[in-house]
Amino acid sequence: MAMATQRLFSLLHSSSLRSSSKYPKYWKNGVKRFCSSAMVHEEPITPPVDVKYNQLLINGQFVDAASGKTFPTFDPRTGETITMVAQADTEDVNRAVSAARKAFDEGPWPKMTAYERSCIMLRFAELLEKHSDELAALETWDNGKPYEQAANEEIPMLIRLFRYYAGWADKIHGLTAPADSLHHVQTLHEPIGVAGQIIPWNFPLLMFAWKVGPALACGNTVVLKPAEQTPLSALYVSKLFHEVGLPPGVLNVIPGFGSVGAALASHMDVDKLAFTGSTETGKSVLSAAAESNLKPVTLELGGKSPFIICEDADIDKAVELAHSAVFFNQGQCCCAGSRTFVHERVYDEFVEKAKARALKRVVGDPFKKGVEQGPQIDNEQFEKILKYIKSGTESGATLESGGEKLGSKGFYVQPTVFSNVEDTMLIAKDEIFGPVQSLLKFKDVEEVIRRANSSHYGLAAGVFTQNIDAANRISRALRVGTVWVNCFNIFDAAIPFGGYKMSGHGREKGVYSLNNYLQVKAVVTPLKNPAWL
Ligand code: NDP
Repeated sequence: MAMATQRLFSLLHSSSLRSSSKYPKYWKNGVKRFCSSAMVHEEPITPPVDVKYNQLLINGQFVDAASGKTFPTFDPRTGETITMVAQADTEDVNRAVSAARKAFDEGPWPKMTAYERSCIMLRFAELLEKHSDELAALETWDNGKPYEQAANEEIPMLIRLFRYYAGWADKIHGLTAPADSLHHVQTLHEPIGVAGQIIPWNFPLLMFAWKVGPALACGNTVVLKPAEQTPLSALYVSKLFHEVGLPPGVLNVIPGFGSVGAALASHMDVDKLAFTGSTETGKSVLSAAAESNLKPVTLELGGKSPFIICEDADIDKAVELAHSAVFFNQGQCCCAGSRTFVHERVYDEFVEKAKARALKRVVGDPFKKGVEQGPQIDNEQFEKILKYIKSGTESGATLESGGEKLGSKGFYVQPTVFSNVEDTMLIAKDEIFGPVQSLLKFKDVEEVIRRANSSHYGLAAGVFTQNIDAANRISRALRVGTVWVNCFNIFDAAIPFGGYKMSGHGREKGVYSLNNYLQVKAVVTPLKNPAWL
């Protein structure tokens, strides 16, 4: 899940965008490079948005949790509370699932024409466009990602995804199949029913779109659990969805933690489950699904993606691309290119330039213009990253730059580069989910293929070369769901995304995502008169 970084890069560097009046006033004080540590000591900028919705959304209504409990959602820039949010538990899961069940069994959504569903989704996309600024600000406030990234890349992609799925809604149909016997055989592609969806905090609105878009286009109803770190934007957009005519009960949003995900995964009345998060929790989800009603499960899990730089690569371009591949979104991407394999002939030059680039990375208040890297999501992730950095140094890798936290408040980490990294080190094996680049050396193509494939993850990979034979050989040999050749993090509504091995099951986005939310029913009718053939 991440964005078209290349496009983002060019957008951020275009003069037309910088002078645009669309952006907040404080942006006139844009930042300069080489000033990261000073910037995180400045007073946080007041976000240009208010929190409007912080309750559970069940059956089209905002309601308190049955227990009356609330929990804080934090500003990663300071660790301070943004607002309290209603905290769902098992009883609320039951309430939301029964609303979704009723909306599926009796309600208009699966029964209305596909064109009507498509029109509601298109109106939603239009309304999202009108609320783009608030949505970008909310996403930055709750998550810590740069406002420019949210505003210029993620919100437009959110809107694009809903238009894309609105386009699919009335193009979903079955087949007629030629049977050997005298029967007319047709297939009906039907919605599965109630979809439980558990989304993560790294791209809250995009993960909302990846999951809710195909589910609703196919005529299902949804109970969505946003990550407890970032519940605000899903509540906001779901309210907008109801304003454009989404019937009550079709989309229910229940923030919470501790028991909500597990209750959804094991619920007997949830017909399908989709989860994005860690491999460990993915296994629990799969097991709960198996032990309850055998609901089908889509999993988008962790990664440790190799980015392979061949000896013929343009080094300056490769350094920039490898940098954005790992540092984008504070390194909090499942597909982050976090194992950078560099050919031995260009390794030393690459290390110097990668280090120089990391030192130039602008870290600071994500609301500030020009900031490339904001804080990590929360203290848990922050501590996890610092632990991995320590383990990198202790295991003998060379710390080229960074390695420390930044500032006295919030969860800022210096962009960190390690060279002389070995495959056996934890920093080369585990998903760090932070701004840490590991540079590994290789000698030849067959060796790097073997080493790249030696991970139990298989989400994505990048190859940088001018040699078409090397590009073909490597991209076909890698056991991963996406290979980016001479590019990285290119996402599009039509490009499927998902993992091999322990990176998950199924594909999201593109035409493939529809299969996750459809049942195929065969209808077989005798042909009475063979002459019809
Ligand atoms: P987790 O994988 O633990 O996911 C947390 C979510 O899973 C919460 O919504 C939680 O809800 C739910 N959950 C927990 N246990 C269960 C269960 N048994 N059944 C169903 N749902 C469950 O992620 P974290 O946020 O703790 O992040 C840990 C690591 O995961 C990160 O460091 C990163 O490596 C990886 N990650 C990967 C992402 C990706 O894009 N693939 C995204 C985010 C994280 P509840 O508590 O209510 O059950």
